[in-house]
Amino acid sequence: MISKTHPRYESLLLREKITKAYKEGYLAESGMIAHGRGEAFDYLLGEKTIYPAKRAMYAAIAQMLLANNPVISVNGNTVALAIDDIITLAKTINAKIEINLFHRTKERIDIISDLFKSKGYNDILGNNNDDLKYINDIESPRASASTNGIYTGDVILVPLEDGDRAEILAKTNKKIITIDLNPLSRTSKMSNISIVDNIVRAIPFMNSIANDLKAQNKEVLKNIITDFSNSENLEESLDFFKIKEEK
Ligand code: ATP
Ligand code: MG
Repeated sequence: MISKTHPRYESLLLREKITKAYKEGYLAESGMIAHGRGEAFDYLLGEKTIYPAKRAMYAAIAQMLLANNPVISVNGNTVALAIDDIITLAKTINAKIEINLFHRTKERIDIISDLFKSKGYNDILGNNNDDLKYINDIESPRASASTNGIYTGDVILVPLEDGDRAEILAKTNKKIITIDLNPLSRTSKMSNISIVDNIVRAIPFMNSIANDLKAQNKEVLKNIITDFSNSENLEESLDFFKIKEEK
């Protein structure tokens, strides 16, 4: 048990969730390393949601509300840290959820499918019974996608994604949204909308935005997207990383 008074309490709690997911067998070793990379960036951000991230979240929700077939892609880290809020988001904006693992094994997919079922969510895509195809016929495990999900989806939220897969997705006509604490990653640079924030803060914030924007008309949503520039927003995000201690 971590004491609530510990100065790194929140951060240690997330580590605990990540190691638990590894022990339960659905998170790969490299997922723990990826978490560490994210942690370092979050430390430099002061573990706070920065203004450019909020702006990106508005654009992301607007884009998903305007979509015909929005899909949320989940991997081991996302499930470990944010499964409940992801299910809420999918329901609020009427999106599908698809499992997509960098290190896909039948066992990991089954554990994650069962976790979603235990939460009352039975429609998970990308499971072991699903019909998987390859995006643009690229025969790489990075390009596999569910026929009714990412393969035919038009707006795809890919939190904590690897650059190789982001690159494959970015070459399609789909709109790609990511949540990635590293504004310099290939994923952040290649996506149409990049949210530089910790997924544990971002998804609940996106849920409240979704409740708000759902009531808006399409023109308002389109304007939010038109006013958004990902490259400018990433540039602005970089300014928030503090490498000098405040005196
Ligand atoms: P890329 O392949 O896009 O260049 P990378 O190789 O640096 O990125 P990966 O390990 O492929 O990184 O992907 C993990 C990404 O997820 C990292 O950029 C990391 O900062 C980010 N990340 C890890 N944990 C979190 C988290 N809790 N919230 C948001 N982002 C996170
Ligand atoms: Mg990578």
